[in-house]
Amino acid sequence: MDKKNPRPRLAVWKFASCDGCQLSLLDCEDELLLLADALEIAYFAEASSTLAEGPYDLSLVEGSITTAHDAERIREVRRQSKFLVTIGACATAGGIQALRNFADVNDYLAVVYASPQYIETLATSTPIAAHVPVDFELRGCPINKVQLLEVISAFLAGRKPAIPTYSVCIECKRRGNLCVMVQGTPCLGPVTHAGCGALCPGCRRGCYGCYGPMETPDTAMLARQWSAMGVAPRDIRRAFHTFNAWAPAFREEGEAHDD
Ligand code: SF4
Ligand code: SF4
Ligand code: SF4
Repeated sequence: MDKKNPRPRLAVWKFASCDGCQLSLLDCEDELLLLADALEIAYFAEASSTLAEGPYDLSLVEGSITTAHDAERIREVRRQSKFLVTIGACATAGGIQALRNFADVNDYLAVVYASPQYIETLATSTPIAAHVPVDFELRGCPINKVQLLEVISAFLAGRKPAIPTYSVCIECKRRGNLCVMVQGTPCLGPVTHAGCGALCPGCRRGCYGCYGPMETPDTAMLARQWSAMGVAPRDIRRAFHTFNAWAPAFREEGEAHDD
């Protein structure tokens, strides 16, 4: 912290991502002014044209590492940051773009880009923690703004963030939802990290796992239950290989259900 400026300095960084998690910070609206009082928003290219140099007390990092340049840039961000927190499925699990990790990235390049010869990219999309030490990972695609505020407050206060480690099922039961699984709809809620308030089961839809794996998820047990419900192996694999495909628990369970 700068002695002349007692406010801690916040930086927000973007790597390969859709910007949705950064927008969750802007979506704080009422709380944003309080945040701006409590800390100096020193670097936030999405929201400001004034970009102050480091060092920073807290860096929020969105996005995965997909280029050699970004692999170097994240090391520089780490060097300049006292605390580094990753936000969202891209930053914590490689994001949807990690689907390339199961295939040949050149096949995707040829399909997506008219002139793929101009694209310089790594063969993989990897989470930030695969490259530098990370102080806290906040899951979600996108993240929950209330959880984000809790994480920022905790780091400002020098305490551990109070983010639950249990599954969406707990939130679902608290809402009094009728479980969609008993009606024959597959749901990833039992292995998915809480944070959304069981949004999808509240609309009578199964959870797609956008908050990534909860702590100690029993994915094999859930996959067995889905099989018993008649879900084909390729659909089980697809369910685990979506938003958080490169999170180890989801990656391994998906790979166990190859055709
Ligand atoms: S986690 Fe989802 S919302 Fe956040 S940046 Fe990645 S794709 Fe966008
Ligand atoms: S609907 Fe899904 S999240 Fe809700 S209790 Fe059933 S399995 Fe869990
Ligand atoms: S997919 Fe699952 S984790 Fe994501 S909002 Fe729906 S219920 Fe919540």
